[in-house]
Amino acid sequence: MKFYNCKNKSETISAKEVFIKGIADDGGLYMPEHIPTLSKDELSSYHSLKINELAFEISKRILAEDIEINSLEKICNEAFNFPVPLRPLSENLSVLELFHGPTYAFKDFGARYLARLLGYFRKNENKLLNVLVATSGDTGSAVADGFYKVPGVKVTILYPSGKVSPLQEKQLTTLGENITTLEVDGVFDDCQSLVKQAFSDSELRKQVEITSANSINFGRLFPQSFYYFLAALQQSQDISVVVPSGNLGNVTAGLIAKRMGLNIKNFIVATNLNDSFPQYLATENFLAKKTIHTISNAMDVGNPNNFPRILDLYDNNFTKIKSEIQGISIGDLETKNTMLSVFKDLHYQVCPHTAVGIAAHNLLNKEGKSIVLATAHPAKFLEVVEEVIHEKVKLPAGLEEAAKKEKRSIKIGKEFQEFKKLLLSN
Ligand SMILES: *Cc1c(COP(=O)(O)O)cnc(C)c1O
Repeated sequence: MKFYNCKNKSETISAKEVFIKGIADDGGLYMPEHIPTLSKDELSSYHSLKINELAFEISKRILAEDIEINSLEKICNEAFNFPVPLRPLSENLSVLELFHGPTYAFKDFGARYLARLLGYFRKNENKLLNVLVATSGDTGSAVADGFYKVPGVKVTILYPSGKVSPLQEKQLTTLGENITTLEVDGVFDDCQSLVKQAFSDSELRKQVEITSANSINFGRLFPQSFYYFLAALQQSQDISVVVPSGNLGNVTAGLIAKRMGLNIKNFIVATNLNDSFPQYLATENFLAKKTIHTISNAMDVGNPNNFPRILDLYDNNFTKIKSEIQGISIGDLETKNTMLSVFKDLHYQVCPHTAVGIAAHNLLNKEGKSIVLATAHPAKFLEVVEEVIHEKVKLPAGLEEAAKKEKRSIKIGKEFQEFKKLLLSN
């Protein structure tokens, strides 16, 4: 399938180019030319498929002409080799646990799939590919894990110093090998901006081949639509899905799944105090804001990257957007109260991001049934969770291991020249 640039629809490129380039030269995002609609019969035939099988069926709809079919199946089987349980918490609330992958957050879905796609498309290539990734906490480790020791690929992670949880930082900075971690004196949007500047620097791009593993890359975003199928196909009625959101990649993947025919009634975009998108829904005016640091740090995004894709999906029609998407911003105090009440009343530990989602459900979906996406394991945010619920959180094996290793990062400022020099020097 061909993809077009949202900023300039006459520019179309192949799927392979989209995954390798990530973002257009003018900063535009790519979207598939056609999003196929599945019939009710086709969808119900998927009812009992596992996540890797669903991934294969849905991938075929977009990528069948671009990837040899056996390889596509293998990519799906290898990428999605962990469970995705849907856990009912009450009559009208279930959580979809997306944190059972190797780095304990839903970012594993996108990163593992994209890493394998790039491996497939680059297998006969000699030149080193530099994967640049700005992270608010979870993307970096998922991408690093996905590309760890992959020949021909070098990963550079940028994270905001002091603004990720201690365990997230350990996951980001302890891998070594082909993974370099830059600790940026700034906030997440500064990291994102450095990456964007690298893409628009033609001198740099002549010398090093770079790609993005952020959700600006369609190959990162698309695999996140698979678990919406998994959750929605288990329901007999139409449901609301609550998406704890930052860069809006996750909800965009959900919107694509709905466009393919899924029985999702509406989406609730739950943000922390970084509320650009809920504000847009309230005012029709989109304003990028300065990032505010919160306890749900992986959603600390003032200028969400995927907003243009949402506009594109709805042909800029604000009324249509409002009819399918609601938004709400939840403060830290309310997030903590929700973590505590979910633990006390439902005996379930949630990370602060998932708590933002549950708080949004409690406030906005009093009548209907919701599935809240549980985006990270509570143990990744040990300090906050234990302080709030006054109970120990058990560390899964992988996090325990990361906690023991020594941190290695390179400190840089937020000026582009320093970052550019570093990229050119290796
Ligand atoms: C990245 C992340 C989010 C936000 O997802 P977006 O796709 O950026 O909207 C939410 N929760 C956690 C735990 C994350 O790591």
